[in-house]
Formats: sequence, structure tokens, C-alpha cells
Amino acid sequence: MSETNPPSRVAAIVVAAGKGLRAGTALPKQFAPWRGKPLVLHSVEAFACAGISTIVVVVAPDQLSHARGLFEGIAGVRIVPGGVMRQESVCAGLEALAGDPPDAVLIHDAARPTLPAAVIDRLLAALVNSPGAIPVLPVVDSLYREGEGKVAREDLHRVQTPQAFRFGDILAAHRAWEAAPEAGDDAEVARTAGLKVALVEGDEALRKITFAGDFADPAVRWPRTGTGFDVHRLAAGEELWLCGVRIEHSCGLVGHSDADVALHAVTDAVLGAVAAGDIGEHFPPSDPRWRGAASHAFLAHAVALARERGYAVGNVDLTIVCEAPRIGPHRPAMRASLAAILGTGSDAVSVKATTTERLGFTGRGEGIAAQAIATLIPLHEGNT
Ligand code: MG
Repeated sequence: MSETNPPSRVAAIVVAAGKGLRAGTALPKQFAPWRGKPLVLHSVEAFACAGISTIVVVVAPDQLSHARGLFEGIAGVRIVPGGVMRQESVCAGLEALAGDPPDAVLIHDAARPTLPAAVIDRLLAALVNSPGAIPVLPVVDSLYREGEGKVAREDLHRVQTPQAFRFGDILAAHRAWEAAPEAGDDAEVARTAGLKVALVEGDEALRKITFAGDFADPAVRWPRTGTGFDVHRLAAGEELWLCGVRIEHSCGLVGHSDADVALHAVTDAVLGAVAAGDIGEHFPPSDPRWRGAASHAFLAHAVALARERGYAVGNVDLTIVCEAPRIGPHRPAMRASLAAILGTGSDAVSVKATTTERLGFTGRGEGIAAQAIATLIPLHEGNT
């Protein structure tokens, strides 16, 4: 390869031959679903997206057919059986590339599914001046050794993968490696062979997925959104409630409950975000229990149901559509009322109003419409 430009022919090796016992998943952890798909698939796709056209996935011999099914349809992926030790597996991957050697190879652990392209760029750029390069992060916590006290952390690094090497150099280093003891990583194999290994900036996103908690209900890890829409008719002699706030007006909304059209729209948005049906399903108009009911109970129920499923309300944006009354003067009270029911701060609740330029049923003052969008956030990421 050229020693002045980053390597142009680059292959990747994804090591997925481990047993993954600490994660406690039914499948070896690299094949267990994480954020909607098998863990190993994330990094393979990341390499493919970064333009790496040859990707060798090293798996345990008893996972060969499973892995073949998994990567069917991804161009450039080759499945290779690994060894007992990680180093043997990497070596098997390198040997699989040796027949048509690339300029450089990125060696990566399947347990680090989130792989930013910028890290790959930094690693390959570093190969211009060094036969090897690894991503590292500083140690931010204090370190303490039992009996000795605080350990200086300034010259310590957290080492990540992928690790990048000029292909011929790392192949020779692995071939020369003595089987025992087990190599910590490929940088150790390289340094043992006398190769210089450069350090480049890693990325917190490259975090290793290790423990069962990392796999806990993966669907709950994403924010979810839902929308709601509702209309009620205006009539004389009715009370007008919007967002749980009683508003003095010449007429009010008609409905089975208190007909708080705004709370109904927000309730449907929250229910929608967790795919839990709609307000009519939970509180049927045919049920006499809900006659004249205060609608904050409906929204509180939806919020509780979302919490049961692992979500808290992140924010809500509501639009009320009417010619009258004017919403502006009531907005602070409406936001506070909604925030209290939702369990958020007022800054997470937006109440907007619009007219329809005297057009349609809202324009003629026959009714009020409301639409809402709610974003829910996973509870177990520090939200209470
Ligand atoms: Mg309604």
C-alpha cells in the first residue's frame, strides 16, 4: 500500500465466535436481538455502509448455517469458522483474506454494534504513518487499587475496536503468535511482533454490549411517538373544559364525559405511542361510569399504562382549533394542568391554538377540534 495515502483496499473482520455467557441470552449474545436485529448484524451493516466491500464474519463452527442465513443478501460478506480462542478466530479471518490480500484490515468485535464511520476514517488515516491504529478513550472515573490507593489515570486508555492494521503486517504477527497466553486484543499481537500501534480518538457510541441488562426488553430503548385527534360539538348550556381547565364561555362542548377535546386528543396520542388502542376502547361511551367524567382520569390512565410498558412522557405538543374562545389567556393554566397529569414539567408541554379562517365547522363555531403529538421516552434511561 501507499505510505502517503490512506489504504484504498480495506476489508473488515467481525469476530462473532464467542459464547457470550455473561449476557444470559438464549442464543450466543452476538446473535441475540438488540434494537430490533441480531447484535452482529449492526456492525456488519455499519461496515457495508462505510463502503467496506469485503467483510469476513468469524463464527463458532456450530453457528455456520445460522450465520449464513443471517447475512444472505448482504454483498461481500463471507462466513468463516473460528477457533476456541479469540486470537485463533481473528487468525482464521485473516487467512480467509490472504488469497487476495487487501491493503488494510479492520478487526472488530461483534459486541460493539454502534460503529461511527468517523472512527473508521480516523483509523485508516492513521495507517499512513503507522502499521496499526486503535481507537481509545480517556478514563474519566477515578481509579483505586485496594491497599494502594488512587491510581494515576492520565496515561491510561480504554481500548475499543475496530482496530486497523496494514494487512501483511498483522497477518504475519498473528501467524507468529504463540498460542498461550491468550492475547487481550490485536494491538497486543501487533506490539508483540514489534509493530507500532497508533492511538486515535474512539467514541462512546462504540460501547461494548456485555450484560443481560443491555438486552433487557430492547424495544423499550427507543423513544416512541403517537398522535391524537378529536372533535366535540359546541352547544349552549354546557360547561367548557379544555386541558382540564374550566373556561368561561357562551357555550360548551357536548359529550358523554366532560368532552374535554384537548385532553382526549392528548390521551389518544399517549395511547398511540405505546400502540395501546384508543380512548374509545378504554372508556367506551356506552359505559355509564364515564358519564360526565372528568377527562383527566382518561389521560392519567394512559400515562399509567405507558409507564407499565416502560415509558414516561417526554413531551407533548397540542393544537386547539377554534374561532372562540381565545386560548392565549388560558395557556399557562392549560400547560400547568397538562404537565401535572402527564408527570412532566410545563416546559415539556406545548399548547397552541389556531382558527380555520371561519371555514368549516370550527370556523362556524359549531365545534372545537384538537390534535396532539406525544413523544414517550424509555423509563430506564434515567427518567423517573
Ligand atoms: Mg372525545
